Formats: sequence, structure tokens, C-alpha cells
Amino acid sequence: MALIVQKFGGSSVANAERVRNVARIITDAYKKGNNVVVVLSAQGDTTDDLIEKALELNPDPSRREMDMLLSTGEQISCALCAMAIEQMGYPVVSLTGWQAGFHTNSGYTNARIKRVKPDRILEELDKRRIVIVTGFQGLNKYGDITTLGRGGSDTSAVALAAVLHADLCQIYTDVDGVYTADPRLVPNARKLEEITYEEMLELASLGAQVLHNRSVEMAKRYDVRLEVLSSFTDAPGTKVKEVVKRMEKSHISGVAKDKNIARLALVGLEDTPGIAFKIFSLLARNNVNVDIILQSIGRSETKDISFTVAKSDMELAQKLLEENRDVIAFDHIDVSDNIAKVSIVGAGMINNPGVAATMFEALFNAGININMISTSEIKVSVLVDSCDADRAVQVVHDRFYDEFNGAR
Ligand code: ADP
Ligand code: ASP
Ligand code: MG
Repeated sequence: MALIVQKFGGSSVANAERVRNVARIITDAYKKGNNVVVVLSAQGDTTDDLIEKALELNPDPSRREMDMLLSTGEQISCALCAMAIEQMGYPVVSLTGWQAGFHTNSGYTNARIKRVKPDRILEELDKRRIVIVTGFQGLNKYGDITTLGRGGSDTSAVALAAVLHADLCQIYTDVDGVYTADPRLVPNARKLEEITYEEMLELASLGAQVLHNRSVEMAKRYDVRLEVLSSFTDAPGTKVKEVVKRMEKSHISGVAKDKNIARLALVGLEDTPGIAFKIFSLLARNNVNVDIILQSIGRSETKDISFTVAKSDMELAQKLLEENRDVIAFDHIDVSDNIAKVSIVGAGMINNPGVAATMFEALFNAGININMISTSEIKVSVLVDSCDADRAVQVVHDRFYDEFNGAR
């Protein structure tokens, strides 16, 4: 008998018919003799709708109350799914994140899982019940409900798979696997049979929302067998693993886009030692994560430093720098959130220096200007104007298309 964790995203449980469909997938796995633990997201756009309701009443609600509100979406889908399974005649129980033993730090709206104590889940499995758990949430040390950040149900599922030593963690969603680019944006994107944890982590961190990046990090750390597949078709999905067969053959595994970023440029900084330290330590002290950094060569005793942050941190970063002009002197700040980051990812590019040049050539041929560049061993990211982002993904994907075919 195997233990399987199955996670279903919001579109998979959006209405009664889809909940019934999910109930069938769950009970099929149960009927085969498996122990089944299920993690669900809120139905359809419920989380967005709840955020809208909150902002109607208070444009700046406390994060604690936001978590109290947002956690309700998952509770609804879990209770409804349990009812559908009851109706089919199978033993089932639904549990909230805290009943399931999720303990988090106190970072409301973006909490980290500290530990999971699955005693109640194990008791229920002993009774041969299907266990349905709310994704995306836990309890902090004050006994308050916390949520794990948007898309966090994937991370709840992987955490449960890790702590229960599950044989498999299946992430059911509205596409039938991980593709070489978002298949909604790039119609000729190819489905990957398998992808390494490392590449998937880069893709997820660079904007491919098919998996929450923290779920991939956790799957890698605890060696969780992960599979991404569709709740709407029976097609085989994508396996996320430590090592994959095609790694030697192809340089690139995918293209990703992130529109959720903003760029700040500090113009006319003093060209003296310690300036970068002052800027980035100020931001770090205030929990502002910085991504790409670019410093110009000093001229006329001044220099410019540009960097990117998450869109949600743009105003805070600007305010902090303006408030600290006495220690960080500059002429002015240029701020823009009309930008996007387009990235290529692939473990095979480590020993292939031509990959970045090929990407830049594709953008040049399409007349797309690159604002900033950042590279690591397994990715190249460029910053482009947001109006160019979708076209950039398409032309870069086209340029590597033959290679993607070779990847199969
Ligand atoms: P869920 O609600 O099931 O968690 P998400 O909307 O979070 O689903 O993630 C699935 C979506 O991720 C797909 O509908 C697809 O548009 C998008 N996506 C982005 N990049 C990729 C990719 N490389 N492969 C597959 N899907 C991707
Ligand atoms: N319902 C939450 C969200 O929309 C969590 C999730 O779906 O993973 O972000
Ligand atoms: Mg998701």
C-alpha cells in the first residue's frame, strides 16, 4: 500500500462539477488500496475576490486580519470536496491547516512552515479515511492563522509529503505538465517529460507559476517525488527529479517571464567606497529583497546604481532611499514598474558560453531593447519593457525551439 499526497489548484475545484471530478480522481487512488492525503486550494478566483472585499473596507488592512480572511477560501473547498466524497460512499475527513499540524513563523501573509506535526492525519489514515487538508495556511506561535504567500498550497502539499514520507506527491493543475514556456502564452511550447529540481526551482523563481518556488526547494531538500499533471485529462505529466535523462543533450529547459518587478535607478551617486553597502544594507534591514543590480562606471565623480525589487516593495524602497538622503547622497531616483524579466533556464548551459549570445540575438532580431542583464550558472535573465515581454518570450522560445525538440 502506498501513501500518496495529491494537491488540486483553484481551477481544478472551481465549481461543483469540477469538485466531483476531483473527488473521482481521489477515490480512484483510494480504491487501488493507497492511503490518500489531499491538499486543496480555494475555488477559482476566491482568494482574489476576498482580497477585493477586504480593500473595499480598508485600503491598508492588517496582515493578521488578511490571513484570517484568506484562509477561509481553502476551508470552503475542503468541506465541499469531503461532502462530494461522502456522497460517493467513501470514508473521508477534512481538516484545517492547524488541525493538520502546520506550525509557521509569524510572518502574516507570507509565513514559512516551521514544522508539521501530522498526528491527527496519521490517526485518520489508520482508520482508512481519505484526509483532505486546507492548503496555504498554518498557525503561528501566538495561535493566529497565517498564510504561506500566493500559490502556497503547493508548498503545503510538499511539506505533508515530506513529513509523511509519501511515496509520491502529485500536483494537479489546469495544464498537463511543465512546459518549455507558459503554454497559454507560447502555443508551440513543449511539455517536458521530466525536469531537475534545480531547473524547476529557477523557472518557478523566475515567474513560471505552475509550481510555488518554495515547494520545489522543499521537494529537493526532502527528496519528495513530485509530479505535475492535469485534473482535466489523463495525459502523463512532468516528473520533477534530482537527475534527468536529457540533461546532457539540451542546454535550455525553459523560458519564463516575471512581470511582478520594478526597477529603481539612483542617479548621480557619489563615487566613493561604501555607497553600495549603505544602499543595500538599508534595504535588507527593511526586508526589501533586491534582485538584479547594475552599477555604472564612475564618471565626473558620480555613478549610477540600478536595481530591481518586487513590485510590492517599490514604494517602500523609494521611501527608504528618499528618507536617507543625508547618508546616501544622490541626484534623483528613476522608478519604473513598466518592466518585465524574461529568463532562460537550463542546467546544460554551464559549459556552453554561446547560449546568452543566442538569446540576445533573438531579441535584437525582434527589435527588443534589453535594459539589464543578469546571469548565473543555469540562467540568463534580461529586463525588457513590459509591452515587449510576451513577444520576447515567444521569440526567445522560437530561437531555442529545435533544442527543445531535441530535449524530448
Ligand atoms: P493552480 O491554481 O493549479 O495552482 P496556477 O495558475 O498556479 O495553477 O499554475 C498553473 C499555470 O501556470 C498554468 O495555467 C500556466 O498558464 C502557468 N505556467 C507558467 N509557466 C508555465 C510552464 N512553464 N509550464 C506550465 N505552466 C506554466
Ligand atoms: N488560494 C491561494 C492563492 O490563490 C493559495 C493557492 O492557490 O495555492 O494564492
Ligand atoms: Mg498555483
